[in-house]
Parts: sequence; C-alpha cells; structure tokens
Amino acid sequence: MDQDSWLPGRLADAAASLLLGAVCPGCERPSARLCLACRAELDALVAETVDVRGSTVPVAAAGRHEGLLRALVIAYKERQAWWLRDVLGALLAEAVARALLDTGGGREVVLVPVPSLPASVRARGLDVTRALAVTAARRLSASGLPARVESGLRHARTVDDQAELGESARWRNLSGALVAKPGRPGLRVVVDDLTTTGASLAEACRALAAASLSASACAVIAATPRRDGRRAG
Ligand SMILES: [Zn+2]
Repeated sequence: MDQDSWLPGRLADAAASLLLGAVCPGCERPSARLCLACRAELDALVAETVDVRGSTVPVAAAGRHEGLLRALVIAYKERQAWWLRDVLGALLAEAVARALLDTGGGREVVLVPVPSLPASVRARGLDVTRALAVTAARRLSASGLPARVESGLRHARTVDDQAELGESARWRNLSGALVAKPGRPGLRVVVDDLTTTGASLAEACRALAAASLSASACAVIAATPRRDGRRAG
C-alpha cells in the first residue's frame, strides 16, 4: 500500500479508536478493522493438509488454531464480529482447495458444514459455520471451482457443547449424534471453523457415509497443533 492510501487509513483507524474504542480483532491495537500487520500475517498463510485422528479422508487447514487465527475465530463466533465472515470464509476456501488437490475434480464441490448446536444458532442469530461455508463457496466458484453449500447434516439427538469437554468426552458426546439428509451428487467436503480432537469431522463423515453421501475431504480454518508437534484434529 502506498503512503497516500496508507495515511488516511491510519487516520481513520485513530479516529475510530478515539470515538468507538475500535481495535483490531487480531492484535487489539487501535484499528477500525483488521490492521495491516494482521492482514499481512493472514496473507502469508499457506493452507496445508493436517494429521487428524480418526479421519479417513484428507483434511486441510488454513493455519494453526493459535495466535491470530484463534483470536479471529473467537471474535467472529463469540463477539459478533460478523464482518470477519469474508476474511475467514476466504481462508476456508483456500483450505477446501488444498484438501481437494489430491482428490481429483470434475464434479461440483458440495460444502457440507458441521452443524452448529441449535441453541448456539438461536443465541447468535446466525449459523456461523454455515455462513463461512456460503462465503467460501462463493470464493471457490468465482475462482473457477464451482461450489455450493448443502446443509446436509443435522443433530439426531441432544449433545453437549464440545468446548466444555475433554478429548475422550468429545468423542463420546458426538458418537452417532449426526444424521445426513438426502442430497444431490457432488464432491462433498465437510467444513468447520476449527478442529481440535477431530471428533466433529469424524462424526460428520460417518453420518454422510451411512447415507451413501461419502465426503471426499474435510477443510477447516484452523487446526489445533498436536503435543508431539504435528497438527491435530
Ligand atoms: Zn492486528
């Protein structure tokens, strides 16, 4: 960015901070939106496949669930920073494209979001994961990879919030919890905002396979690094 366009942006950020207390959701420095340093950090990310427990299909992530990405996902989901949908949806699109690199093409890509808890959707007024999937599908289609979203999974029973549970409890909590709705043919990719233990992705893939709608890959914005240095699901 040249000096002429940079300076008014900085002045706008300073004014926004003064008037509204606005801070960058990534680093909490004064900024009307995402600051230039955080934007540059996002631009430098390269989506990679990750090692996820229990997954039988390729899983790709835009980055690690730590630092900047962790802060942005929390701001989006828990602080109603809905404008981050475009930023995070673009990252999800990159992860989807990476996940499909080794799977071949030729069919329409169908993004299947891991369903949010009904209570969370009611509380937020938005299905945050589905919203990211819609943005990602638009980005993929615009870049020449036709994609659409299919809300093809629903909860078959009540489950607890995964964030409140330890690793083994997360797997028990979700085992057999999802069921797939009928869907049209396509190259299915299960998408979620993040993966921690891999339980959500594994259950989504199981439910789709049980309905003969098997997923070809999974993609998330952020994956939690494993303790042994590899990334986890
Ligand atoms: Zn920042």
